[in-house]
Amino acid sequence: MVTLSRARDNMVEYQLQRRGISDRTVTKAMRTVPREVFVNPGFEEFAYEDTPLAINEGQTISQPFIVALMIEKADIEPNDRVLEIGTGSGYAAAVMSRIARHVYTIERHAALAEEAKQRFQRLGYRNIEVRVGDGSKGWPKAAPFDAIVVTAGGPSVPQSLKDQLDLGGRLIIPVGGESEQRLLRVTRTGADTFDEDDLGGVRFVPLIGAEGWTAEHSLYT
Ligand code: SAM
Repeated sequence: MVTLSRARDNMVEYQLQRRGISDRTVTKAMRTVPREVFVNPGFEEFAYEDTPLAINEGQTISQPFIVALMIEKADIEPNDRVLEIGTGSGYAAAVMSRIARHVYTIERHAALAEEAKQRFQRLGYRNIEVRVGDGSKGWPKAAPFDAIVVTAGGPSVPQSLKDQLDLGGRLIIPVGGESEQRLLRVTRTGADTFDEDDLGGVRFVPLIGAEGWTAEHSLYT
């Protein structure tokens, strides 16, 4: 039987490095964080499968490769302050917390936020702050951020999130329809100027909120 730690190393080698994830800080963090702690009880043996998995409230923990891709493209440095929208299980926030100085993460489902908090405590990850609310409006009191990673797909790039980027800051966000989106990287180049790169096609659960989709518009709540 393959141990979970061996499965984690295999995941990094076969799912990440062989698909082009080369940033060593990202692969090191993903070798460190136990994904089995973030899946629903009973699903630990599937924690290192090459797939998203269902979590509570009809949501998902993203596929490891997508987590690695978003974090690599966010170019997170050790001194960075990072905002994540869509805490979900807490896995991506946990990975980013192994690279950045501080991670702020917002989740609209209180039950998911609470479970994530308990996981961070259990693992001794102290540089993560979790808040319940609508992350499409960002976290103005903690802004500006060096990087913002949105793990749910919106119809457009929320202006509030662009406004909360520091100069040179990177925003990674899936944008498009509810079933398919383009993963965008928006970089702040000046007070009112931004560059935009298209990183490819992705499928995320919807970003529901004031600067996302309305709850009625979605099958997910
Ligand atoms: N990053 C998560 C992880 O590592 O497990 C995966 C998150 S899941 C793909 C997307 C999450 O975004 C869901 O938990 C969903 O409830 C949340 N979400 C959707 N709209 C949101 C909003 N406006 N503010 C905060 N969270 C939101």
